[in-house]
Amino acid sequence: LGTARSVIRELFEYGRQRAAEVGAENVFDFSLGNPSVPAPAEVNDTAIQLLKEQADTIHCYTSAPGDAGARQRIADSLNRRFGEQYTADELYLTVGAAASLCCVFNGLTCPGDEYILFAPFFPEYRVWVEGVGAALNVIPAKLPDFQIDAAAFGQAITPKTKVVIVNTPNNPSGVVYSEKTIKNLCTILKKKSEEYGAPIYLITDEPYREIVYDDIKVPYLTKYYDDTLVCYSYSKSLSLPGERIGYIVIPDRIADHEHVAPAIAGAARVLGFVCAPSLFQQVVAKCVDDTGDISAYKKNRDILVDGLKRIGYTCVKPQGAFYLFMKALEEDAYAFCERAKKFDLLLVPSDDFGCPGYVRISYCVSEKAIVDSMPAFEKLMEEYRTNAV
Ligand code: PLP
Repeated sequence: LGTARSVIRELFEYGRQRAAEVGAENVFDFSLGNPSVPAPAEVNDTAIQLLKEQADTIHCYTSAPGDAGARQRIADSLNRRFGEQYTADELYLTVGAAASLCCVFNGLTCPGDEYILFAPFFPEYRVWVEGVGAALNVIPAKLPDFQIDAAAFGQAITPKTKVVIVNTPNNPSGVVYSEKTIKNLCTILKKKSEEYGAPIYLITDEPYREIVYDDIKVPYLTKYYDDTLVCYSYSKSLSLPGERIGYIVIPDRIADHEHVAPAIAGAARVLGFVCAPSLFQQVVAKCVDDTGDISAYKKNRDILVDGLKRIGYTCVKPQGAFYLFMKALEEDAYAFCERAKKFDLLLVPSDDFGCPGYVRISYCVSEKAIVDSMPAFEKLMEEYRTNAV
């Protein structure tokens, strides 16, 4: 513990230091996924109202899975939106998606279990999966569309496969897996779990579900595969990352539900979570169908994609989330990012996302920062044109 570095966090700290030296407006920090859009006014108003009206109780412990009324309101919203029939008992409120995933991984994993992940992926998955002692099998990225390579996936499943993790809209590619991709994935999962006579759980990590552009639809995975657990967070959709609030859906219909649900609750206890923040349980329950104004992200995406393509960079146009995956101008993405620092462009090398040769650009920044960064991207390109690597 403590020996592995988080490249993203290190870059973020470097950016702060650099901003102190040269001024924040001169540093183009695309490192972190901190929403730039403020939380909806409704969220702040609700929090203030709760603080005033429930001053005696709002800071109290709740039951470990969360307040039953809050869970019911969230379940009702999911039922309305996705045609499900969840009850409050199928929801477990957590301290954000990180906690949702850690509780599920801890609850499900037995010695010798294997997990499957699709590159590119959120780097913390590796830390959490390896932290519970499971082996990780990464399916390489499918180029050029960054969907899922079904054939490679089918071949990677073994009798030891316990969990498959899917993240859509995806961090870092911004890609939304199409319905065709999801159907193929679920057909393979059904076939393989029947063949091996053991459930393979699909964990869908979807903090970016509501952040999608151009009317793209994000398939709701429980509709395609029964053994699906949903890990969700309000960090991005309501711009509340510091408040730490999210949930797990553990549908009654999953295999071994009678063991899995208590195991996840037990895992939350072992990990010391106690309960999710009481004030924000109530806030999200009251603002359950709200989303921050994502039009600013869309605008940033469009300026960035057009600008980078015009300069000559290659990137995948993101359909959701607020990340753009761009091809580095040399094979070694670390070296490329070091060169980018010369122009105070802070880009995250893609190696830890399981897909070397790219960089992630978090465009949840001000529009001005995107526009002002373009000359720096041009200088970086120029540097490669004139000083061939
Ligand atoms: N999963 C993905 C794909 C993420 O990008 C993040 C955060 O950036 C998380 C999980 C963790 O989210 P939270 O802040 O809700 O713990």
